Amino acid sequence: MMQILRTVGELRTRVRGWKADGRQVGVVPTMGALHEGHMSLVRAAKRGCDRVIVTIFVNPMQFNNPDDLAKYPRTEDHDAAMLAAEGVDLLFAPLPDEVYPKGFASKVSVSGITAPMEGAMRPGHFDGVATVVAKLFGMTQADRAYFGQKDWQQLQVVKRMVADLNLPVEVVGCETIREHDGLAMSSRNVRLDPLSRAQAPALYKVMTRAATALRDGGAPAAVLGQAREDLRLAGFTEVEYIDLRTAAMLDPMEVLDAPARLLAAAWIGGVRLIDNIPV
Ligand code: AMP
Repeated sequence: MMQILRTVGELRTRVRGWKADGRQVGVVPTMGALHEGHMSLVRAAKRGCDRVIVTIFVNPMQFNNPDDLAKYPRTEDHDAAMLAAEGVDLLFAPLPDEVYPKGFASKVSVSGITAPMEGAMRPGHFDGVATVVAKLFGMTQADRAYFGQKDWQQLQVVKRMVADLNLPVEVVGCETIREHDGLAMSSRNVRLDPLSRAQAPALYKVMTRAATALRDGGAPAAVLGQAREDLRLAGFTEVEYIDLRTAAMLDPMEVLDAPARLLAAAWIGGVRLIDNIPV
């Protein structure tokens, strides 16, 4: 039976019991509106740990856009049913006051890799992510934590924070799960109107084509310029960035001479989509 807990006190009591029995605890932090991408993290956690906690918390601190926060899909009953069917032991779904009680005054801020891309487009976003993830690690005392490569920069930020702060948790990055047409699964996809949904897979297609051109020796500046143009032609109204960067440090690359990542964010039908692939 999956338990649903809302307070840190109850969560700690439960985890203390598991740890006393020598159980390895895994956590999958999410914002809910679960899909197969989240479920792949849950399955990885089930394989790697004795007990699995999934957290659902739409973290106000990581939203720079109040409209995005207000419109973020919330489907807890459905989420809980999916998690129970997958054999999750505990769903932790606290209210904002439990996570940020009166007087809350601390912040975890990772510099450097948070500066470009999502960090540049969404001021304060990664402070919110790092702070809530550090708090969730403290609350759950998990031995392993599972994150998606879908949010590649976020994954690198979490790894950096864990290394820098010596947090006793192993961060596991899991592959991006896609729809049959290549669109990366995302809780925000439900907000796409039918035309935009039909056009949206172009993001992955254009990125895949660009990655091939880069591997074939194409100059990054020219290839990325073409990709921007292709995205606009495919119906994307704004391309915030499409960047070639070193995979872990996220430094810009002018020549492809090390393991790289191609990362993009673009708007279609009023919805902001992100994706990334290895090069
Ligand atoms: P979110 O609920 O969007 O904050 O995502 C929670 C976790 O699920 C994050 O670690 C995401 O990277 C991961 N995730 C979201 N979408 C996907 C996907 N399509 N494939 C794999 N992981 C995903």
